[in-house]
Amino acid sequence: MAYEWVKDALHLGLGFTEKRAERLSKTRSVRAFGYRNLRYVVLRRDLGRYYEGTLVIKTRRGYRVIPGYPHIRRAVILSKALPRHFIDNVVIEEKMNGYNVRVFTLDNEVYAATKGGYICPFTTHKIRWKYGDKLVELLAELGDNAIVAGEAVGPGNPYTRYYYPEAGEWDFFIFDIYVNGNPLPAEKRVELVEYYGLKNVRRLGMVNKNDSETVLNIIDRLDRERREGVVMKDPFNRVPPLKYTTSYTNIDDIRVGMKAPFDEGRYFIFPRLIRELFSYYERGYGQTEIKEKAVKLGEALLLPAIESIYRFKEEGGVGEEFELVFKDYVYVEEFIEYMFRLGVDFSVISIEKRDRDIIFRGVKWMRETQANYAKIFETGLSSMD
Ligand code: ATP
Ligand code: MG
Repeated sequence: MAYEWVKDALHLGLGFTEKRAERLSKTRSVRAFGYRNLRYVVLRRDLGRYYEGTLVIKTRRGYRVIPGYPHIRRAVILSKALPRHFIDNVVIEEKMNGYNVRVFTLDNEVYAATKGGYICPFTTHKIRWKYGDKLVELLAELGDNAIVAGEAVGPGNPYTRYYYPEAGEWDFFIFDIYVNGNPLPAEKRVELVEYYGLKNVRRLGMVNKNDSETVLNIIDRLDRERREGVVMKDPFNRVPPLKYTTSYTNIDDIRVGMKAPFDEGRYFIFPRLIRELFSYYERGYGQTEIKEKAVKLGEALLLPAIESIYRFKEEGGVGEEFELVFKDYVYVEEFIEYMFRLGVDFSVISIEKRDRDIIFRGVKWMRETQANYAKIFETGLSSMD
């Protein structure tokens, strides 16, 4: 009978027929989950017009739907993609490297959902603590249905490890506000976010769609600054945005991914190789430039991976450590519970008080990499062929 409210959420909340809702409620395409007194259903893949990561929350009055954040298509040849895709002008925003967070309010309380569609207790805590009042005010002005989307960045999170000088250990930069399901024009959003004392991702300029030259220059500057890339948006959202990443990030992702070759590395390599190749083509690189890249790429492929093999041999595991700053033990407990319920393989290293903060240190174990290394060391045979 646990299926019953899930079925209702899909039928009454998302408008699927009763029959389809019932069928779906028994599959792995949806998952029932909860946070405190909230119960919600998560879409684990795109269903109808709803994207993966959509939440359907049961409220006193009915259902509140938080649509999944849309996938952003990637450009690899700007001089081709921009004129074909855009209408006239293109807003260039910085693409920040962190994790996607959708913020919404229910009964004047702020909640934060990850891209996958789970209300993350850690992120909810950070958002409430740093920006709670401001977000409540902003969302109240826009109406009960509004959603703020942004990137949570800084190394102090359980998901990504990238440092930004302007962010410190954790911060939140807004890139979209949805009102009744529609994104506000970039300029309007920037104004609102500033007015309420919140932070926007950086706006790097506005160009004509035929001026890919300027965009390439912006990207080369970001590349030297070791930043991730850009998201290019129509000023009035008449067409969906496109993304493009720097060579620095393409190669650095491979380096990070290859710390756990069987978990991340293998999936990271090929797509990023393609991005690099077309960016060399577009920039007209010759032998000298490509050989320089070859060294960087080769190091990214080999050095972290070989280190992970030695580490495994010595310590018996391959893990990634992370440190989180909390203010309140309630959230620490909720976070640990949350990770276990999601099936993340992790251990707590320590929980300590530092001044007024609670410092949580944990390690995420790389399951696939560990299993494959173990097999290889046991048998001497390849786990793949
Ligand atoms: P997808 O391929 O579905 O877009 P992904 O998880 O592979 O998702 P990325 O390659 O990181 O994502 O690119 C999309 C993500 O970039 C968005 O989901 C968002 O979290 C992030 N992002 C960072 N800066 C911006 C920005 N200025 N505008 C929009 N998204 C941004
Ligand atoms: Mg990202």
